[in-house]
Amino acid sequence: MGLSGYIHCVSFGFWFSPLKSGCSHLMSIDVGQGDCYLLQTSDNTTILIDAGKLEKSYDAGKMTIIPVLKKLGIDKIDAAFISHYDNDHAGGMISLIRAGLIKKLYLPPPDTSSLDDLTLFNLLSKHENFELITKGNIFSKKGITIDLLTNFDSIPVEFSSNQRSAVLMATLENQKILFTGDLEKDGELELIRKNINLKCDLLKVGHHGSRLVLQMNF
Ligand SMILES: [Zn+2]
Repeated sequence: MGLSGYIHCVSFGFWFSPLKSGCSHLMSIDVGQGDCYLLQTSDNTTILIDAGKLEKSYDAGKMTIIPVLKKLGIDKIDAAFISHYDNDHAGGMISLIRAGLIKKLYLPPPDTSSLDDLTLFNLLSKHENFELITKGNIFSKKGITIDLLTNFDSIPVEFSSNQRSAVLMATLENQKILFTGDLEKDGELELIRKNINLKCDLLKVGHHGSRLVLQMNF
């Protein structure tokens, strides 16, 4: 089955109907400054990568993602991943967990020298079914696999929160989609140095496309 609706940009308030069954879908959910990607296989396995931010004036989970899921007819996320602990990626996940939508949560190791990382990790890891991801194949179901290309066992200690983003290669049907979180130049160079196979059909560029990313050879 092909990848239908290859990228839908779903913004709040935009009219849309439940997803066409029997197809795979990849969507970017518009959470403003932040990331949130929804993948669904033809067998209705649903994956979420990042969940936008949580602030006093805006909770991406409650105000955008939950309404979008409802409109799409999705009542559970089988596997949710956090790329790293910046609020604009991890904050919105708290409301999704509280709403009982996340069946399993996959978390990268926090930077133990960062209070922000530890605060969000402590909140998120209260989820009754969470797994700490460190390397290799971390999720596999009919129609989708998720591989973690970052090796957290050997990540340089001086790497900041962005450089510690979990780089995920999703293979949805036969399409490879590379999610790089907020990775910047040093993180990209580290992957190149380690000869990691980065070949993909679609790349979600690091750090919201900032000029700090994308080495020419990446
Ligand atoms: Zn970010």
